[in-house]
Amino acid sequence: MDRIYLDHAATTPMRTEVLEAMIPYLTDKFGNASTIYGWGREAKKTLDDARASVANRIGADFNEIVFTGSGSESDNMAIKGIAWQYSDRGKHIITSQIEHHAVLDSVKWLEKQGFEVTYLPVDADGIISVDDFRAALRSDTIIASIMHGNNEIGTIQPIQEIGQICGEHGVLLHTDAVQTVGAMPVNVNDLNVDLLTLSAHKFYGPKGVGALYIRKGVRLAPLVHGGGQERVRRAGTENVAFIVGLAKALELAEAEREVVIPHIQRLRDVLLTGLEKIPNVKVNGCRTRRLPNNVNVCFQFIEGESLLLNLDMKGIAASSGSACTSGSLDPSHVLLALGLSHEIAHGSLRLTLGKDTQKSEIDRVLAELPPIVERLREMSPLYNR
Ligand SMILES: *Cc1c(COP(=O)(O)O)cnc(C)c1O
Repeated sequence: MDRIYLDHAATTPMRTEVLEAMIPYLTDKFGNASTIYGWGREAKKTLDDARASVANRIGADFNEIVFTGSGSESDNMAIKGIAWQYSDRGKHIITSQIEHHAVLDSVKWLEKQGFEVTYLPVDADGIISVDDFRAALRSDTIIASIMHGNNEIGTIQPIQEIGQICGEHGVLLHTDAVQTVGAMPVNVNDLNVDLLTLSAHKFYGPKGVGALYIRKGVRLAPLVHGGGQERVRRAGTENVAFIVGLAKALELAEAEREVVIPHIQRLRDVLLTGLEKIPNVKVNGCRTRRLPNNVNVCFQFIEGESLLLNLDMKGIAASSGSACTSGSLDPSHVLLALGLSHEIAHGSLRLTLGKDTQKSEIDRVLAELPPIVERLREMSPLYNR
């Protein structure tokens, strides 16, 4: 039985072309980019090319890109780095209730250090109100961190409008664009953002490498002190091979986006339409302002974890929320922010498609899932037909 992978929001398989681009830098071309002889100069040139390529694809300048060890690190660096750098201007931060934990846990940690945080709510569709955002601004607000595309329910936030408001008020805006880079056009100038996070393993690159865009003129206290790498913004010998992998993966994602994304979206809609035929199912998140590969539904009277285990037995990999919260019994903070009860939120299932997802795989999921749901409901004391 072929396995079916429908958890691309958690991670994606690395492309062969990406691995091939990386191998020379893991073998012969092993130089340290800070050294002056041939090996070092070669590494430096490669790093420069990768940086120029990534910058170019998101509308940034060469010096505005810092390579990091992950999307989580980029989020931490943006928020803590700005908070520490500009704390003399104010100690207020704005974010939303549905951010990734890399953002939420960073601001929570800053709260313990005397910063104040406003957690904006979302509407039933999972979208932040621009008016709420404007009303949350204070004279001591220094940074806002609002995600671009949500990793659980796929909603796309009005970053452009929020960025414009931030600009008018002299507040820096960071966006976590880990889910949108490669899936839709992402341009830092169109989005009006000052800082932007991306991560290679969400667009078919290697795990353990990300980038942070930092607009020219924005200063930031580093998380990692040491050598002067990344223009003294992140110390540590550059991971040339993985950075090459990130750049290559982004290049390919962008080159194929206009063909691949409509294909994914079509299959996603087939899946969604099929799932909606199951009784007592609720679709989470906005239908229109949504990542093209995301399906998130709640099945009433069912535990998401039991559903996952049963799907796994059929060779289908899915998620009950974000990978970071599965394993714990708390329902997803994102689903609760939508106003769902704990009971309903517990029955959630996230299926996220990828570039290699096939129609036959969607058909198989739509054949396997209804009997599993039916069987689990039969066992539920809450369910009476
Ligand atoms: C995956 C993800 C992250 C974390 O990126 P890592 O590289 O895995 O640390 C952050 N934000 C969002 C929205 C994500 O989906």
